[in-house]
Amino acid sequence: MQKAHFKMSSWDVNKIRLDFPALAQKIHGKQLIYLDNAATTQKPQSVIDALTHYYQNDNANVHRGLHTLAERATENYEKARKKVASFVNAPSPQELILTRGTTESINLVAASFGATYLKPGDEVIVSEMEHHSNIVPWFLLREKMGIKVRFIPIDDVGNLNIDALKKMLGPKTRFVSVAHMSNVLGTLNPVEEVIALAHGEGIPVLLDGAQSVPSMPVDLSALDCDFYAFSAHKMSGPTGIGALFGKKKYLEEMLPYMGGGEMIGAVSKKEATWAPLPHKFEAGTPNIAGSIGFGAAIDYLNTIGMNTVHKYEQELTQYALKKMKSIDGLTIYGHAREHGPAISFLIAGIHPFDLAQYLDQMGIAIRVGHHCAEPLMQHYKIKATARASFYFYNTFSEVDYLVDALIRAKDLF
Ligand code: PMP
Repeated sequence: MQKAHFKMSSWDVNKIRLDFPALAQKIHGKQLIYLDNAATTQKPQSVIDALTHYYQNDNANVHRGLHTLAERATENYEKARKKVASFVNAPSPQELILTRGTTESINLVAASFGATYLKPGDEVIVSEMEHHSNIVPWFLLREKMGIKVRFIPIDDVGNLNIDALKKMLGPKTRFVSVAHMSNVLGTLNPVEEVIALAHGEGIPVLLDGAQSVPSMPVDLSALDCDFYAFSAHKMSGPTGIGALFGKKKYLEEMLPYMGGGEMIGAVSKKEATWAPLPHKFEAGTPNIAGSIGFGAAIDYLNTIGMNTVHKYEQELTQYALKKMKSIDGLTIYGHAREHGPAISFLIAGIHPFDLAQYLDQMGIAIRVGHHCAEPLMQHYKIKATARASFYFYNTFSEVDYLVDALIRAKDLF
C-alpha cells in the first residue's frame, strides 16, 4: 500500500513506526493517528534510551568536575554539540550554542545583538508569517531601546513579497529575521534570495529553522546566514533543548545573554570576563540529558537520511493537499510552490475547535488555533485554522483516514 505511492524501494515506513512507541497506542479505542508534528514530534526508542542511560549511568555536572562521571557527562554533552553542528553543516561547533530551543535562541539574539549593535530608530525586519517567537523578542527590544519592527507583507498564496522587502531595506535597516519554513502555511521561503538582498546592504540575517531542520537537509555553510535557530523536539528529540548557530564575528562581539556559572572567564568584585565561545552563551547548568537526547535524535535521522525524509514528506504532503482540495467547502491556507508538511485549513460551517474534538474521537490528533502566528491570522482575517502536519512516520493510509473523517465531519455538522 505504501510503496504504491512512494517509489523509494528501501523505504519501509511501517518498520520505521516500530521505533516510535507512542505511535502504537489507541485513543478512544481507535488507532492513534498523530498529525500534530509541527507542534512537536514523537520520539524514537533510541532517544528515550539515551535520556535514561545518561541518568542511570553518567549523571554529573559538566565542565567543572575531575571525576569520571563528570568527564563522561562533559564528553557526551560536547559530542552532542558536534553532532548538532555537523547535522546542519555549521562551520564550527564553537558557533553552535545549545539553548532551550528556537524561542530562547531568538530571544538571545534579539537581546544580545540588540544590546551590542542597535540604537533607537534602527529597524529590524520580520515577516507577516512569523511565529510569535520571531516577533515578540523584537517587540521587547523595541520597548527597551526604541527600535522599529517592520513586517514583510505576504500574498494570499502565502509567499513573501520580495519586491516589498527590496523597498524596505534601507539605511536604517540593521537586521532581518524570517522563518525558513512557515509553521502555518507550510511555505518554504526563498531564504537564499532574502540573504543575498540583505547581505548586499551589509545587513545580517537570522533564519527561524524550527520547521525546516526537521524536514529537509539544511546546510548552514552554504546558506551563509548569520544566525539560525531550531528546536530538538520538532525533530524527534527531547523538549527543552535546541540550538542557535551564530557567526563567530558577531558572537564574539555580542554581550552575553545571561550571567552566571559556566559563561565566565574570571570574576572579581570589580568585573567579569567571558568564557570562550560557545560557553559564553551557556550560563548555568545546561540541559545535559536533553543535549545527549538531541544527539541521539540526530543519529536516528542520519540513519534514515534527510534527503529521504524530505522526499517522503513531500510525496505525502502533495498527496494530502490533492485529496483535501477535492473536499467541497474546505479551504487551504498556503499554496506556495515549495510546501512543507504543515497544511492549514478550514471547513465552511464547522468551527475548527469542534472539528478537532470530533477528530480526536476518531483517534486523529490535529491542532487548531492561531498557531502562535496572530499577525498571519490577521492577514487572512480569520481567528484560527485547523492544521494537519506530517512527519516521516506518517503514512498514506493515515492521510486517507483523515480525509474520510473530514468528509464525515462535514456531513455531521
Ligand atoms: N518558530 C516556528 C516556525 C515554530 O513552528 C515554533 C514552534 N511551533 C517556534 C518558532 C518555537 O519553537 P519552540 O517552542 O520549540 O521554542
